[in-house]
Amino acid sequence: MVEKILANLEKSSCAVDNTFLQAVSEVLHSLTPIVESDPRYEMNGIVERLVTPDRIIQFKVQWLDDQNRVNINNGYRIQFNNSLGPYKGGLRFHPSVTTGVLKFLAFEQIFKNSLTGLPIGGAKGGSDFDPKGKSDFEIMKFCRAFMRELHQYIGARTDVPAGDIGVGSKEIGFLFGEYKRISRNYDGVLSGKPYAFGGSLMRPQATGYGVVYFAQEMLKEELQETLDSQVCCVSGAGNVALHTIEKLQFFGAKVITCSDSEGTIYDPDGIKLELLKSIKGDEKRQSLKLYKAKVPTSVYTQKDDYPEGAHPVWSYPCFAAFPCATQNELTKADAQSLIRNGCIAVVEGANMPTTPDAIDLLQEEGILFAPGKASNAGGVAVSEFEMSQNASMEKWDYDKVDRKLDELMRQIYKRIALTAKEYGRERNFVDGANIAAFKRVAEAMILEGV
Ligand code: NDP
Repeated sequence: MVEKILANLEKSSCAVDNTFLQAVSEVLHSLTPIVESDPRYEMNGIVERLVTPDRIIQFKVQWLDDQNRVNINNGYRIQFNNSLGPYKGGLRFHPSVTTGVLKFLAFEQIFKNSLTGLPIGGAKGGSDFDPKGKSDFEIMKFCRAFMRELHQYIGARTDVPAGDIGVGSKEIGFLFGEYKRISRNYDGVLSGKPYAFGGSLMRPQATGYGVVYFAQEMLKEELQETLDSQVCCVSGAGNVALHTIEKLQFFGAKVITCSDSEGTIYDPDGIKLELLKSIKGDEKRQSLKLYKAKVPTSVYTQKDDYPEGAHPVWSYPCFAAFPCATQNELTKADAQSLIRNGCIAVVEGANMPTTPDAIDLLQEEGILFAPGKASNAGGVAVSEFEMSQNASMEKWDYDKVDRKLDELMRQIYKRIALTAKEYGRERNFVDGANIAAFKRVAEAMILEGV
């Protein structure tokens, strides 16, 4: 049945849907035994319904740049599934954004949100707008124009967007300001807001810190290991990467790499986080060449000099690797290099950063592999904490949010490890995550009827 659904989907999809098909294929292959063991899933058309978005919203965004020229971008919101709660998922502003990319991200979000155990459904949105090189005033004008269209589809109990690549608290602030002006409502319609008007403490740190909490629990339970004094490689230099590095360093690890869309830094003495933040933090988006200029003993490799199909960020000996930049950034060649260099765990911070053949290889070689839908769920979890605080007009302190995040990440690890074991796939956290997430969503879909 699963093969038939996948074949139909491939037939009806176009080229831009490649990443979506990749995500669906991975999930459906994990689900084959469970779907075939319970006739209710077929009777209720659960899998077909689950791979079809509730709606795909597309709109035109018109805005004026600093020279008063008219610019036009595409805006999107994909509301995929709200069986567990209001649609929830980030907004991505990046030139590579298409409906295909957003369908993959929204589909993954359903499973991630289910794994948190919280009442949130799956969605994603964004635009092909590129914030890089734009003035703050241009970003503000774009965000306002984007929200003038988006506002009619979202609401605190309907759909609550957050940030993602290219959308940090600055952009969320501009978007929220415009929503409030249009709707005259001061409700928690976006998460990741600045703390000054309804944001939660620790939301900016949540995804990266959560990744490390997850890694710590997995290493302790599976290998009786800790991160202390271990060498780690991290990719990316944005929100998720910076906070992953921060927490790894807090636990005593030495992080030796980071990267962006133009190149990679290798610092054998350990990444200087304050310097990196001054270049990349707060959506500054400057070049990593500045890091090399300040730390002459580091090595900068420009993207054009990367070997075919491989990324230097994964070419150094390390204990654990944390891909935190973007999808399909850790290939089979990278996995081979990590294995050769003694890596024992790959923990995804980004969404689907590891290609399917790389995952297969890592798992065959006994490397612990944590899929992003489990290990990076800390961001959306604290977004839900923000929704709870907004609804009850409360402000939780830092320790409370941190404690709840740590506990939630441990629970996700336990849930997927136990599920994998229960279905005879011990240590296969991809199958454990897909099955555990599916069961919760499928049950809700059956109970609510069609
Ligand atoms: P940011 O925009 O803050 O940072 C993204 C980083 O990745 C930047 O360093 C960027 O480089 C780099 N990057 C982007 N595209 C590429 C590419 N094609 N090749 C190499 N590097 C690239 O985004 P986030 O840190 O928020 O998101 C990173 C990942 O984590 C994404 O997959 C996102 O979906 C996922 N995620 C984010 C969450 C969050 O809370 N923010 C929650 C869960 C998942 P440059 O500076 O040159 O643009």
